[in-house]
Amino acid sequence: MEDYAKRYRLMCPGPVNVSQRVLDTMIASEIGHRECEFSALLRDIQQTCLTLMGLADKNYSVVVLTGSGSAANEAVLTSAIQPQHHVLSLATGEFGRRLGDISKIYNPNTTLHAQEWGSPLDLDTVENILQNHPYDWVTMVHHETSTGELQPVKAVGNLCHKYGAKLFVDAVSAFMADPLDLDDAHVDFMSTSSGKALCMPPGLSLVVGKTDEFKNLSDYPVRNYYLSLARHFAFAHDKLQTPNTPAVHLFIALHEALKMIAEEGVQNRLSHQTKKAQFFRTRLKDIGLTLFHPDHVLSNAVSTINLPDGTSFDLLRAALRDRGFIVYGGKGPLADRIFQVSTMGAVSFDDIEALVRAIQDSIACANHSAA
Ligand SMILES: *Cc1c(COP(=O)(O)O)cnc(C)c1O
Repeated sequence: MEDYAKRYRLMCPGPVNVSQRVLDTMIASEIGHRECEFSALLRDIQQTCLTLMGLADKNYSVVVLTGSGSAANEAVLTSAIQPQHHVLSLATGEFGRRLGDISKIYNPNTTLHAQEWGSPLDLDTVENILQNHPYDWVTMVHHETSTGELQPVKAVGNLCHKYGAKLFVDAVSAFMADPLDLDDAHVDFMSTSSGKALCMPPGLSLVVGKTDEFKNLSDYPVRNYYLSLARHFAFAHDKLQTPNTPAVHLFIALHEALKMIAEEGVQNRLSHQTKKAQFFRTRLKDIGLTLFHPDHVLSNAVSTINLPDGTSFDLLRAALRDRGFIVYGGKGPLADRIFQVSTMGAVSFDDIEALVRAIQDSIACANHSAA
């Protein structure tokens, strides 16, 4: 049991450390999901979320699902996108490709445009593809977590607008770390989750989308009962409830996490995320480490760091774990080439400084035990 009780600093790309205030609030009360308290909570969550996103006076709605970020993605890919739709999935890393893979399962007319991991999205090629084929939907990731890079959502949104395609954006790891104006970028649906920059425990996901698009969903057959966005939207908006038993405590945590962002102000929260990422990246340079693609457009959420020559990731990870820090390695073609650190959770500048020292120590330790 000892290991469970130990408090690690989770500096991996999710789950993240959660503030004591959110943790305390989450366990302070028990409410039934068919009671008026839950409806009041849900109403507040929906309104606050839209206000924070600058969408309160625009025609957008929010649905909260019990399930990690993939639940929201699968809900959109099975509810809004239908087998008769032609789908273009853009990928420059693991998560973009995953959207394409999931879409292919449900939507046979899915085309994957996959580029080399970490290469900037080639907008001329995307325009060419859209020009030559009438696509109904485009799917993409805002922050491609596997490389730490931001994708040009607004530029793709403009192309979608020009060629008559709708746009679904996975902003699971970008939401509240990097700015995105859904209305301005012509985004029809966006997904995010609790366990990333919202600074909450994992287990909830959100779909934000145009209210008209949500309303259209009831014209389509239900293909996934539990994740039917049409059902979730109807319950959320007609009754201020969820179709099934939700993770009530996580809704309480979400309410508090959104309240904290509202108190701080979205701009302040985003610039705090920028400052933490910049501080970490400057200190990395001081200890002689380099970023993967430092000249690309990087997210504030995650830093992707080249593994020094001759350092084993497994040994580095173990040494950091011994020092109380959790970091992740690279996926796919980046395995054993990079490691990833997130500064998006409830971590302070002191935590970041302590991590930098631990990384320096741990690399020496890993290299020593490998020798
Ligand atoms: C974390 C993440 C997801 C969701 O993964 P889950 O394991 O379902 O939480 C999806 N997309 C991106 C870009 C992510 O970073």
